[in-house]
Amino acid sequence: MTPLPTEYDFDPADWPAATALGQRMLADMMNYLEGVGDEVSWQQIPDAVKERMRAPLPQTGQPLGDIYAEFIRDVVPYNKKNIHPAFYAWVQGTGTVTGLLADMLASALNPNVTIGEHMPMYVDAQAVDWCKELMGFPASASGMLVSGGSMANITALTVARNSQLGPDFREEGFAVDMPRTTVYCSTETHSCVQKAVEILGIGNRYLRRVPVNDRYEMDHEALIQAIEEDIAAGHRPICVVATAGTVNTGAIDPMEEIFNVCQRFGLWFHVDGAYGALCRLDPTYRERLRYMERADSIAFDLHKWMYLPYEVGCVLIRDRDLHRRSFALTPSYLQSSHRGLAGGPDPLNNYGFELSRNFKALKVWMSLKENGVEGYARLIAQNNRQAEYVSRLAAATDCLEVVAPVSMSIVCLRYIRPGMTEEESNALNRELLLRLHERGIASPSATVLRGMYCIRICIVNHKTKNRDLLRLVEALAGIGNELYGSV
Ligand SMILES: *Cc1c(COP(=O)(O)O)cnc(C)c1O
Repeated sequence: MTPLPTEYDFDPADWPAATALGQRMLADMMNYLEGVGDEVSWQQIPDAVKERMRAPLPQTGQPLGDIYAEFIRDVVPYNKKNIHPAFYAWVQGTGTVTGLLADMLASALNPNVTIGEHMPMYVDAQAVDWCKELMGFPASASGMLVSGGSMANITALTVARNSQLGPDFREEGFAVDMPRTTVYCSTETHSCVQKAVEILGIGNRYLRRVPVNDRYEMDHEALIQAIEEDIAAGHRPICVVATAGTVNTGAIDPMEEIFNVCQRFGLWFHVDGAYGALCRLDPTYRERLRYMERADSIAFDLHKWMYLPYEVGCVLIRDRDLHRRSFALTPSYLQSSHRGLAGGPDPLNNYGFELSRNFKALKVWMSLKENGVEGYARLIAQNNRQAEYVSRLAAATDCLEVVAPVSMSIVCLRYIRPGMTEEESNALNRELLLRLHERGIASPSATVLRGMYCIRICIVNHKTKNRDLLRLVEALAGIGNELYGSV
């Protein structure tokens, strides 16, 4: 008999050694997460370290322990550190220990959660059902866990477009003699809505940016006017996107008024709640977000205000049938059966574009069980009160000015002294933010509101404590004074 050729696999050659290394990694990461608050909030990457990421493709392998040592040396110290209690930039969640552990467990099971009779499908469905409850959506609604708010928004807008344009749309697409379809949002809407409208073939020009009031909320009278003008011009309005928590200032578009406008004109009512939808758990915001429950669809992120590790967002569609009709497609290789491995629930590729899906539901399921709605409500409310606290601290200084109404957990402020021009203030605040980052004190981000460059503090951070915020405000005033003296 001819000898069999050597056979290979990627399992460890030495399981106990691999287990020990894995245990060391986990212990190191737990220590890192426990102590990260004592480290600088950010640190510039040396050129030599960046240079090491321009190596040629490895042709032969090396031991995992050596690669891990490189990770510890080159990657960990220069992390983005949205896991740090002094991180307040953009809208970025912190991650949790439970999320870390759940992701590890999910990677070990490694199911592709799309099709089949296996328990991860039911965990996913349970997580989505709980998301519906969190948002006050009926049990009959449908939903999907997706990579994030951008994917959730384009998924919802696809259903909106297809439902409004009728059953032939998937087959025929846009025809040349059709009226132009128009979508409405405010000037403060997140850029992913523009991208979605472009990808959906509607065209950016037909995404109407409705003006906002002095609280950065959509002006619903202007919305009605825009819709009427489009109808008069022979266009076909299909959808209004209301934002629950704008990315600049946390503003909430008037949900009830927009709902009524959608009813009156027969439009799809979509809510981009990527940042702020979960704010309905804070009693202070519950009433203002009440009509969000009436939306046709809603997009929200769990890697923001549920503090879960990246990536996980959720889209909910009130009408399951419309949702399914936008995506369902069954090629021969994806047929399900009534028994066996290909049995189980309706395959999830019938509800979205993605076919391969990881087991992100596990961290959602575990975290909701561990903390309960109560736990999230408490922390979200804490973040909102913290923003109010920052605003009070700033108002008590003679040099920091809060430049937009504080809504949800966002404060926009700037350093300014009597007699300073707008340009001087803009230049000073730009430098102030850079020094704050470079000294590793805190990581807010920046935005421009009505021509004013301002420092934007967004707290979706379960680790932030009031003392971190006090330190932030003191540093803003201190560095500002240092710069002001030197101008
Ligand atoms: C973050 C955010 C998005 C985009 O979500 P991703 O998870 O980053 O894709 C959309 N809209 C708003 C209001 C956001 O805050």
